[in-house]
Amino acid sequence: MAKYIFVTGGVLSSVGKGILTSSIGKMLQTRGLKVTVIKIDPYVNVDAGTMNPYMHGEVFVTDDGGETDLDLGWYERFLDLSLKQENNITTGLVYKSVIEKERRGDFLGRCVQIVPHVTNEIKNRLRAIARTSNAEVVLTEVGGTVGDIEGLPFLEAIRQMRLEEGYENTLYVHVALVPILDVTMEMKTKPLQHSVNELRRIGIQPDIIVARSQKMIDAEALRKIALFGTIPENAVFCSYNADSVYQVPLILDKQGMGDFICQRFGHKCESADFTEWKQFVDTIIKPDHEVNIALVGKYAGLTDSYVSMSEALRHAGAACKSRVFITYLEAEKFEQNPECISDLKNYDGVFVPYGFGPRGTEGKIAAIKFARENDIPFLGICYGFQLATIEFARNVCNLKDANSTEINANTPHPVIDLMPEQRGIEYKGATMRLGAHKIILEKGTMAYNLYKAEEIQERHRHRFEVNLDYREILTKNGLVFSGKSTDGRRMETLELPNHYFFFASQFHGEFKSRLGKASPEYYGFIAACLSKKMGKPKPTFS
Ligand code: GLN
Repeated sequence: MAKYIFVTGGVLSSVGKGILTSSIGKMLQTRGLKVTVIKIDPYVNVDAGTMNPYMHGEVFVTDDGGETDLDLGWYERFLDLSLKQENNITTGLVYKSVIEKERRGDFLGRCVQIVPHVTNEIKNRLRAIARTSNAEVVLTEVGGTVGDIEGLPFLEAIRQMRLEEGYENTLYVHVALVPILDVTMEMKTKPLQHSVNELRRIGIQPDIIVARSQKMIDAEALRKIALFGTIPENAVFCSYNADSVYQVPLILDKQGMGDFICQRFGHKCESADFTEWKQFVDTIIKPDHEVNIALVGKYAGLTDSYVSMSEALRHAGAACKSRVFITYLEAEKFEQNPECISDLKNYDGVFVPYGFGPRGTEGKIAAIKFARENDIPFLGICYGFQLATIEFARNVCNLKDANSTEINANTPHPVIDLMPEQRGIEYKGATMRLGAHKIILEKGTMAYNLYKAEEIQERHRHRFEVNLDYREILTKNGLVFSGKSTDGRRMETLELPNHYFFFASQFHGEFKSRLGKASPEYYGFIAACLSKKMGKPKPTFS
């Protein structure tokens, strides 16, 4: 029978619930327990796929093609899991299935209500994941902040879980901000006390409270949190600011959180083995070198828009014993001030991420051109791959005004065009080419050397692709499409053999990148940036 841990947050959002949940998972995993993680998002969207990254951060794509909340990315990165679409439960998804059941007549004769119908749907989904994953511990993070109207049905459902699953099989963890006043440097626990009260008003008494603070909480704050939270002092933990998020499991475990949870569940756990994790963390926090990357994007104002990408760059950095500094540049800046493009000389590499729509694309194309012409290591992902193709078509193949039909439907040279199966699709939700697909890499190419395999699987999220009508002219002029779909018709990677490092992929290597298991394409990029910086010859990776 699975044990359930529920993580709620208070005072404000972005308090680090995702990292905390991942860290709890890590503490249990290192004690030999099999865990899975669920993210509840109380918004009405059915999934995260239709949300603007600028407002909600990146959309994380799972192997099975789910467009999910970015927290699933943290769970996968910390726990090296491949989660499923079902691991992200939203209000939209829950209501959609309740309403479908109502229409089908499943509740015939009855009035369909939030309690019990919606709450039952939520609990059924949690239990179904517990069953199919075979996990010993199911962690569930409830998104948003305690007290939000839209979160109430979920909190009610997890409240009922204790009744039905038993005290010994359920554990509530509440995390809230403990701010430090600038003036007096005092730690303030009152907001946390209020959020615990709010949780109790709903009927949930936390078993563990985590204070999220700038530094380790002092004895006085700890005493107050325990007293007003009605929990023993050894059930209060502090997640303080660290150099790297990957240190958080170590910080909490040192305070006894992992042992506390195991004892509470009556698990006779193995002792925690953090040896490997510690080694990985050391490569992040004690690097030998530094690499400076310019990320030229359209959501540069919100770094969470690119979180899997920036983490993949850091994992690759760790594999090269390097700290990776990322400067987020708004691509439009290069359109307004074209002379700024030469600033890219100050970076060890240029990275062009995913994107949608026309805004900023000319700036990104200018950045790719600069990187290509100045032999600066370049990595492009998805839109970055498509824009690199456009840049090459325009400036090397002399196809004037070549473009993607996503940007200009009337371009004379649609080198990037809508995929045939996308034509006629009207619904925007979950209709892109999504999730893991096989890619065949050509022997002898850099792609093959990096992945050291002929067949790989990577995740996708796109509607457009390289137009095969232009394949010949592009390849004749020196662009190498080194990776293709299994039928050979979809271009998946491109490279320029005469460049120091110029590589792009239609797929998103970042979604499978882990600390200690860097994505090969990201690794190649950072390794090239570093060796160029050191004045070494171009790496071949063979
Ligand atoms: N907008 C492009 C497409 O839909 C690229 C998508 C992306 O970068 N994820 O094909």
